[in-house]
Amino acid sequence: MPSIVIVGGGFAGTTLARALDGRLPPDCELTLISDESYMTFNPMLPEAVGASVFPEQVVAPVREMLSARSRFVMGRVTAVDAQARTLRCETLGGERALEYDHLVLAFGNRARLDLLPGLAEHALPLKTVGDAMHIRNVVLRRLARMELEWDAQVRRELGHFVVIGGGFSGVEVAGELADCLRSVGRFYPRVHANELRVTVLHDTDRLLPELPAKLGAAALVSLTRRGVAVRLGARAAAIAPRSVELSGGPVLEARNVICTIGTRPNALVERLGLPLERGRIRVAADMSVPSHAGLWALGDCALVPNALDGKAAPPTAQFAVREARQLAANLLAALQGRPTRPFSARSRGMMAAIGHRKGVAQVFGIGFSGLPAWLLWRAYYLSQMPTLRRKLRIFVEWTWGMFFPADITHLRFTRSEELQAEEQAPPTLACLDKSEPRGCRWPTAPSSPS
Ligand SMILES: Cc1cc2nc3c(=O)[nH]c(=O)nc-3n(C[C@H](O)[C@H](O)[C@H](O)COP(=O)(O)OP(=O)(O)OC[C@H]3O[C@@H](n4cnc5c(N)ncnc54)[C@H](O)[C@@H]3O)c2cc1C
Repeated sequence: MPSIVIVGGGFAGTTLARALDGRLPPDCELTLISDESYMTFNPMLPEAVGASVFPEQVVAPVREMLSARSRFVMGRVTAVDAQARTLRCETLGGERALEYDHLVLAFGNRARLDLLPGLAEHALPLKTVGDAMHIRNVVLRRLARMELEWDAQVRRELGHFVVIGGGFSGVEVAGELADCLRSVGRFYPRVHANELRVTVLHDTDRLLPELPAKLGAAALVSLTRRGVAVRLGARAAAIAPRSVELSGGPVLEARNVICTIGTRPNALVERLGLPLERGRIRVAADMSVPSHAGLWALGDCALVPNALDGKAAPPTAQFAVREARQLAANLLAALQGRPTRPFSARSRGMMAAIGHRKGVAQVFGIGFSGLPAWLLWRAYYLSQMPTLRRKLRIFVEWTWGMFFPADITHLRFTRSEELQAEEQAPPTLACLDKSEPRGCRWPTAPSSPS
């Protein structure tokens, strides 16, 4: 019985599994292994940061995407023996070894935390849904802390959010944060609107370099209109707990630094011993790994040549999905002894949501911005959700969310034993600030930034 194993339940892995599910010969086994039980719609993470959508609305359970003919294993692949065609996998039931005839590597990449001094310790990366939830909670904690803070300097640092990177994710996060801070302001009456600032640092001379200059300029206008300070040609050099140092000297006072740049290869890549280029697995035109029969790779972890222009396909969701569809056809061809075909695709365009009901898009060569671009963005990701039931639920929830302020629920997931430990700890009175005026326990009126 031939068996196909896919490693990674992201855009590439789940699209491939869905394309093969039901099309394989009846005696062929399909297994998808991923270390999370859900697929993350990464392009929507900035909206989860800005609390426009709930985190559970940007993920989809892998099991809902597959039929009973296929198998999903939640586990982390730790080693592959390409000669013996076996892999090792850590699962909830312990370590397992698995044999395969065809293995597809689609495990993406990771956030890079060593790009700048202080980044790992003090910055907030945005790569996973956990990162998005964490940043959202940090934003809400900062606002809650400002409500109680007297010191003007500390308030300035707490209220300043610096986003490193003016590409898609950076612009999206900045726009979402600006809208979120404005819409939740009414719930924090002791925080003045002018005390909340968002700054984008981008090291080239225009935002969204992947899009035509006109759309980068539209994003710049949209952000600056909402009070976001965009610093073009500015490069972060180091991050400290209360500041960001820029190349050339200036220091920005901020306790919140969100990093949207830099990726590193998945740790598994280095253990595989396969030929790499720029940290990605080098594959042939049909996505097979040269000199390793039965081994294939695609998506962000692979350097897939695009036969259309001879260049490497970019590491984007759009290309991961289209590579997956081509690879499904190639795997079926390989099983039937037919020739495989090279990957060839023309970009259909690009879109970015740059805040609540605002977007920029270039689709089939036509550029547009504002609400139409945002609606198209939402419609596209809704169409990618599995099952009609899920699509309908998310459509209703998104539509509801369009007309109301961002949700300020700050879920802490505190367990009973942690609560008990907190209650038993000795009280700390050190937090009472010496500069606090006598007789008044908390700031009572909005303070103006100095
Ligand atoms: C914040 C953000 C915004 C983005 N915005 C856009 C955008 O607007 N447009 C666009 O086209 N692209 C965007 N991207 C890029 C896009 O998300 C990626 O190109 C796409 O996700 C790549 O798909 P993939 O399947 O190769 O990898 P991923 O989607 O990263 O999936 C990899 C999967 O492998 C699993 N995995 C990893 N290691 C193992 C292991 N050892 N064992 C088992 N499973 C493993 C992971 O849990 C994950 O499920 C964005 C990315 C981010 C982070």
